[in-house]
Amino acid sequence: MNKVLVLLEHDGTTLRPSSGSAIGFARELSDEVTALLLGEDLGAIAAEAAKYAPVLTADHESLSQNVADRWAHVITEVARSQNAELIVATSTTWAKDIVGRSAGLLGGAMASDVTDHEITDGQLRLRRPMFAGAVNATLILEGSPKIITVCPSAYNAPKPADIPFLIETLSVDASTLPSATRFESLDCKKGARPDVTEAHIVVSGGRAFKNAEDFEKYVGGLADQLGAATGSSRALVDAGITPNSLQVGQTGKIVAPELYLALGISGAVQHLAGMKNSRVIAAINQDPDAPIFEFADYGLVGDVYKEVPRLIEELNGS
Ligand SMILES: Cc1cc2nc3c(=O)[nH]c(=O)nc-3n(C[C@H](O)[C@H](O)[C@H](O)COP(=O)(O)OP(=O)(O)OC[C@H]3O[C@@H](n4cnc5c(N)ncnc54)[C@H](O)[C@@H]3O)c2cc1C
Repeated sequence: MNKVLVLLEHDGTTLRPSSGSAIGFARELSDEVTALLLGEDLGAIAAEAAKYAPVLTADHESLSQNVADRWAHVITEVARSQNAELIVATSTTWAKDIVGRSAGLLGGAMASDVTDHEITDGQLRLRRPMFAGAVNATLILEGSPKIITVCPSAYNAPKPADIPFLIETLSVDASTLPSATRFESLDCKKGARPDVTEAHIVVSGGRAFKNAEDFEKYVGGLADQLGAATGSSRALVDAGITPNSLQVGQTGKIVAPELYLALGISGAVQHLAGMKNSRVIAAINQDPDAPIFEFADYGLVGDVYKEVPRLIEELNGS
């Protein structure tokens, strides 16, 4: 693989940690990795990115909000001008909105949610979950360019370089950008806990928790002891106990943290689709036959209302 373009995600102030997975993957495939940043006032973020790869910035007020058709247009133009053979991003909600559009514009071959890869006989083989995680497929992309999104925790970010790479600012002609969509406003919830797709540890709760107060006390309490993110099964989202943003699974977020703690979650295939690539899975469930135990590295049969406070106490040292 020669030229690889990595799309980096940021929140307007700093790089999203999940972007490290895309850079890590790209670096495993090629020495010719260039990072692309879009937005406005990107100076500080570009300096951060330059620790990992040479950086191209499309820095313009017309790109200040990530309006998908504009961003996809710019990504496509840059990929073409750079003759990129591979375009990589981390599979986040942002990427789902934008990268697929670029893939359509570029007319290449795309694989999303990649969790692993190998090169055999010179061919790149990608692993990704399919059919709600019921199977893990191995894919070879035949088209060009190739567009790949990787799961947030699937790859480690490379070590930052001692001497930063170069940063180049691209010129943006706002008059050529699509204007069918206009940005209105953004409602952003800022939580003290890390984002569920970026955290190294995720503590998730299921139907065992009867209300939002219990979820916060037990799942949130344990997450805070571990510096973890909270996640939830869809059962709790559907019951209005947890917000949609916490849902892990086929129709929620796909996560692959170092440690996934499933508390009172049965392990339905749709939930497993979102977390079964976690490095270590630990589960607490009062039903010894709960399917989650088939996937868990560590399991505790017990009542979450008794076991979770014990864990919190242990971690608290009290
Ligand atoms: C198209 C489709 C998409 C879906 N997408 C998703 C998705 O993205 N994410 C998702 O999570 N689900 C999804 N679902 C729903 C999924 O099928 C399950 O219904 C859901 O995951 C169940 O959530 P749960 O494990 O919390 O609840 P349950 O299956 O009811 O399990 C609760 C578990 O808690 C245990 N328990 C109860 N009380 C206690 C206690 N006090 N202590 C310890 N253990 C206890 C029980 O033994 C049980 O195993 C989807 C379904 C469909 C049809």
